[in-house]
Amino acid sequence: MTIAMQQPISSPEKLDSIARHLFSPMGAPGVYGRTGLYEGIVRALEDYITRQRQSGTHVYRFPPVMTRAMIEKSGYLSSFPNLLGCVCCLGGSERDIKAAVSRFTCGTGEWTDSLSSADLVLTPASCYPIYPIAAALGPLPADGLLYDVAADCFRREPSNNLDRLQSFRMREYVRIAKPDQIQSFRKEWMERATGMADAIGLPYRVDVASDPFFGRGGELMAASQVEQSLKFELLVPVISQEKPTACMSFNYHREHFGEVWDIRDDEGNHAHTGCVAFGMDRLAVALFCTHGLDPKKWPQSVRATLALD
Ligand code: ATP
Ligand code: ZN
Ligand code: MG
Repeated sequence: MTIAMQQPISSPEKLDSIARHLFSPMGAPGVYGRTGLYEGIVRALEDYITRQRQSGTHVYRFPPVMTRAMIEKSGYLSSFPNLLGCVCCLGGSERDIKAAVSRFTCGTGEWTDSLSSADLVLTPASCYPIYPIAAALGPLPADGLLYDVAADCFRREPSNNLDRLQSFRMREYVRIAKPDQIQSFRKEWMERATGMADAIGLPYRVDVASDPFFGRGGELMAASQVEQSLKFELLVPVISQEKPTACMSFNYHREHFGEVWDIRDDEGNHAHTGCVAFGMDRLAVALFCTHGLDPKKWPQSVRATLALD
């Protein structure tokens, strides 16, 4: 499925100016303070996505951390160990902690040498925490479950590009159900999402994709993901036409999370799962790159869609 992609593309000068108006550097690539102008558009996008919510959807908002045990069990560590961030803290006795701090204050060493990993990691995607919550409910109802989730996510992929952050917001609709129900959820959402991209005036194409699985073994997993068409992305030419930015993804995990968390459907089979993910920061950056820095001057239809009037 490919849709014709139109111009425009942002020049380095334009990207610089966009960055200055939307973000303030915080000393690490892909970690920014965000201006009111930018956050206003993120909120308008959030509300627009909320208006697409189907009835019977359960809503959850997750913190930027989740348990290490959950992420280990989910399989994330085997697939993306290079992207995961783990919370570390100073532990031990008051004396141990004081010794670590004084190495820093006296300049005799690194306080960080005394850190030990806590039971928390930084949430890498907003749907991971929902599967154990769904599993705790027992067997699925006949029509499955539908969730609206969001979280501040972290991925260790430092970059100076505005479309690749280390800390970013993700919003998702997640379906837990039988295989055919997941397939139709994903098909419907790919149609709805392209309609949404049209309505907010973003140029795009939709293409089959793979996750950035780690290492040599990961290449095989990525190839199999493409072969089975398990992932599609809505790609917007934010920075370059050749390497468009994935602003939304449409994922079918098959029985992976159903097996991991032992989620069963009403016939006792492992549930299948799928999700549609919106990269809130990428969508907001794409809007500014496409329509300019002043939302008052954006096309009237876009302003109306985002209820900016
Ligand atoms: P990419 O292909 O660009 O690495 P991804 O395929 O790993 O992204 P997903 O795992 O599908 O991304 O995450 C869901 C959505 O979250 C993406 O479609 C994107 O919009 C957003 N996202 C992912 N990584 C980042 C990032 N580093 N910075 C900003 N947004 C991101
Ligand atoms: Zn997901
Ligand atoms: Mg991708």
